[in-house]
Amino acid sequence: MDNKTFKKNDLILIICLALASAVMLIGITFFSKDGATVVISVDGKTVKSFPLDTDTTYNIGGFHGSTNILEIKDGKAHLTDASCPDKLCVNMGYISKEGQSIICLPNKVVVEIKGKTKDNNNFDTISE
Ligand SMILES: [Zn+2]
Repeated sequence: MDNKTFKKNDLILIICLALASAVMLIGITFFSKDGATVVISVDGKTVKSFPLDTDTTYNIGGFHGSTNILEIKDGKAHLTDASCPDKLCVNMGYISKEGQSIICLPNKVVVEIKGKTKDNNNFDTISE
């Protein structure tokens, strides 16, 4: 066997193994997270996600310069303020369970709770 070819194949194998274990590690970290995740999307694209068990405030830069202020507190998420005219999203109040969502139609903002036990792969939307 050509020694050079062998080494090249070896290297490819090592890279493949390294990539595979990295993907597995990310997967384990992601799916074993305690509690749910608050996923924010604007105009159908995921822009940010936060763990539901960590208190935080985030200004969602929505569609065409709109704003929605998200607050996560005590394991619940809600919008404290928004630039939309109807304020329906603010009036929706708190969400805390998997599958619940707050939708702001004028700003095209969706705040959704996603659980840790989902079988479908969420990486495609998260990595955008
Ligand atoms: Zn709104």
